[in-house]
Amino acid sequence: MYGAIVDLDGTVYRGGELLPGSKTGIATLREAGFDVLFFSNNPIKDGVAYAESLSEMGIPVTPDETCSSGVVTTDYLTREHADDEILCLGAECLREQLLSAGLALTDDPERCDVLVASWTPEFAYGDMQNALDAVDDDTIFLGTDPDRTVPMDDGAMPGSGAIIGAVAAAVGRDPDAILGKPSEVAVEVALDRLDVPAHQCLVVGDRLDTDIAMGERVGMTTALVLTGVTDYADLATSDYRPDYVLEGLSDVETVLAELDE
Ligand SMILES: [Mg+2]
Repeated sequence: MYGAIVDLDGTVYRGGELLPGSKTGIATLREAGFDVLFFSNNPIKDGVAYAESLSEMGIPVTPDETCSSGVVTTDYLTREHADDEILCLGAECLREQLLSAGLALTDDPERCDVLVASWTPEFAYGDMQNALDAVDDDTIFLGTDPDRTVPMDDGAMPGSGAIIGAVAAAVGRDPDAILGKPSEVAVEVALDRLDVPAHQCLVVGDRLDTDIAMGERVGMTTALVLTGVTDYADLATSDYRPDYVLEGLSDVETVLAELDE
């Protein structure tokens, strides 16, 4: 084992506050020789923003050691759609990431080659109209991440998945791809960064349908933490079976102990 994909929200921190023991858990992984990639499905921050916020919280990381659905989406569009015009129904921070990468954005549905749907607090009826006008049979329709909700201190708010679902209903078809965890594109980006094969990679996260689903599908070792959106009751009724269930990230040493045996 040489690589670890560690989720952020609900795993390392929650609502901007470090979770107890998460610093220790990261230190344990690093001391055991793991390269760590912090991977959030949040589409609005890039690697630089995550490196800054984690370092401020006392976990020093470089932008290369972080990834997000925004980074994966930007990376994918740069590789596959560099010459296409993109209509982005998403937050300004996501649009800025796409523009910084030299991608061409349009607000004109007639010119749209690729429609990207993502979280934005400003999602409105007009966005569904634009999507409906933009999408025909050969328009590529992408979503940044499937997260239906985003955990907040006092509950949750609708996430990208909710908006992608509304857009999909408006245009009458599912997206061609949703790019964050657990997608194949996300796996490729993460394993490429860590430079390990899937079976030498540990994924730690709080969501069964993204973190654990991704690891399970490609043969990573999976560890669910109970510090986020999933509790024992959710686990009991789920088809996903994480290899390990941890009370928190600090318990990752029990995983490492068993992997050594
Ligand atoms: Mg999470």
